[in-house]
Amino acid sequence: MPGFELFGDLERQEVNDVLDNGVLMRYGFDGMRNGHWKAKALEAELEKTFQSKHVQLVSNGTAAVSVALASAGVGAGDEVIMPCFTFVASFEAIMMLGAIPVLVDIDATLGLDPQAVEAAITPKTKAVMVVQMCGSMANMDALQSICTAHKLLLVEDACQSIGATYNGKPLGSIGDLGCFSFDFVKTITCGEGGAVVTNNKTYYTNADHYSDHGHDHIGNDRGAESHPFFGYNFRISELHAAVGLAQVKRLPEFLDIQKRNYTILREALSQIPEVTFRTVPEGGVESYAFLNFFLPDVEIARKASQELKTHDVDACFHYFDNNWHYIRKWNHLKEIKSLFPISEGVKKGLGYLETKTFEKSDHHISRNISCLIKLSWTEQQVKDRAKAMVKAIQASL
Ligand SMILES: *Cc1c(COP(=O)(O)O)cnc(C)c1O
Repeated sequence: MPGFELFGDLERQEVNDVLDNGVLMRYGFDGMRNGHWKAKALEAELEKTFQSKHVQLVSNGTAAVSVALASAGVGAGDEVIMPCFTFVASFEAIMMLGAIPVLVDIDATLGLDPQAVEAAITPKTKAVMVVQMCGSMANMDALQSICTAHKLLLVEDACQSIGATYNGKPLGSIGDLGCFSFDFVKTITCGEGGAVVTNNKTYYTNADHYSDHGHDHIGNDRGAESHPFFGYNFRISELHAAVGLAQVKRLPEFLDIQKRNYTILREALSQIPEVTFRTVPEGGVESYAFLNFFLPDVEIARKASQELKTHDVDACFHYFDNNWHYIRKWNHLKEIKSLFPISEGVKKGLGYLETKTFEKSDHHISRNISCLIKLSWTEQQVKDRAKAMVKAIQASL
């Protein structure tokens, strides 16, 4: 991660195909396109990658989460349970529908804590949104059982975990709906892009219409289409899809590189008795997009974060102290700083954020260091990095 590190001839060729015939729109213009349907081809390719019946491309990962929830009927006043460690997009995507994000604790997987999920269920709960952070996963068996028992939708935000699997199934294909991002820093990038993945024909059809103004896409005359319901514009362009089409073909190569680099770093850090690693649920295989480890306490983690910088080790994050990924610093969300008036119901629904504490998550996130695994590193560079990381961490203990 990220895929842009290895842009090459394949990406150029796919983009040139689109520019040569000039159709940047994914629908219509059949006569002009000389057979090029990049978005459709990418959807077909992703259906194979995610072993799922249906894939709907959209404009980005945040849109994918909103479109997925909307397609399954989540809307005004519904509660969606989500983790307090994620990327802010998960929160935004729920708010956009007039639904209420209910944040709960994570566990040592760095994903949703099943007990916390169960405790947060109310009559208003419609969905559980698990966020598969940093290339790995939450305890999916436990979450699936809870959702089945309480008749809740299980939605996977797998934006950061393309290529990881659980009991042999790709992440994103396990819940009722899965969401992916192909933004500039993800394992596969289109620049901006996203996907909704599902085996449910109705959800897929809804996603197809909803992401393009409610057009039903029947026939090839856009003026004559009917509109079963209204939608918005969350379309991907052919240019973006072209880049994605080249990148997805290279996914196995990207995953091999991530695994090699991750393994070298992990083996080196394993020599330090104070370092422990994130729990990967049984049956889970990471995408190796990040290496996540824990230090004994928050002071050591803060010091290690500094020492890593001093030792010229970049791309390592201490999420406890950053304001993108963890509830602790999301003041604009806790204070509901909306640009426009929002409903009293949603305000009331978010009232819990004023007082709720997340001790269990603090315990994990405060001690966690998360290192991005890059694709462009040579084996020698990774070995040098491993040495520098060991030195930096030993200096902080
Ligand atoms: C990147 C990301 C998103 C949002 O994707 P965009 O394409 O940037 O909108 C959502 N959730 C998670 C976990 C992400 O990492």
